[in-house]
Amino acid sequence: MILPITIYSDDILRQRAKPLKGVDSSIEELIGSMFESMYNASGIGLAAPQVGKSLRLLVLDLSCVKNYESEKPMVVINPHILAVKGSSEMDEGCLSVPGVQGDVVRPSLITLKYRNERFEEQVGEFSGMPGRVLQHEIDHLDGTLFVDRVQKRDRRKIQKELAALASGIVNASYPVVVPVSKLY
Ligand code: ZN
Repeated sequence: MILPITIYSDDILRQRAKPLKGVDSSIEELIGSMFESMYNASGIGLAAPQVGKSLRLLVLDLSCVKNYESEKPMVVINPHILAVKGSSEMDEGCLSVPGVQGDVVRPSLITLKYRNERFEEQVGEFSGMPGRVLQHEIDHLDGTLFVDRVQKRDRRKIQKELAALASGIVNASYPVVVPVSKLY
C-alpha cells in the first residue's frame, strides 16, 4: 500500500523513533508498504517516520543509481553507528522536504550494526552512496533532517523554500500528509 509521506513541519519528523523488538506480520507489511511508497516517489531511501511511524526502521534501494545497479534493496532495523571515518560533501534532498537541495558534509565511511528484515544482527562497513543514504536515513530516526546539516552557504538559499513548506505549500509528485495544525 502506498503511504503518504510526512512533510518538513510534521512533529513526527522531529521525534526520536522507538526501537523494534522484533519483526512480526504487521512490521513485514509496513516494510512492504515503505518500499512501495519509496518507489512511487522515486526515492532511494525512506525512514519509518516519513510514513508516520515513529520506529527505528528504514529501507533503501540504490539500484536505480548509476554505478550502483547491482546493489540489493536493504532493510535496516535498530541501526547503531559504531565508528566513522573521513569526511565528504554531497548534494542531498529528501522526500519529506520536496524541492529543497543542499550540500551536506558527512563521514565518508561508517561501521554499522543493525538488524535485517529477519531481525538478524549484522555489522557492515558502508561508504560512497550507501554510506551517505544510510546516514541521512538514520538521522530521520533521531529527529534530524538534512536541512539542519546543510552547509552555511546554502542555508539562506533554502530558507524561503522551508518557510513555504512549513506554511503548508507543498509541491510533490507523490501523496503527502500536511500537518493539520499548520493549515490554520
Ligand atoms: Zn530524508
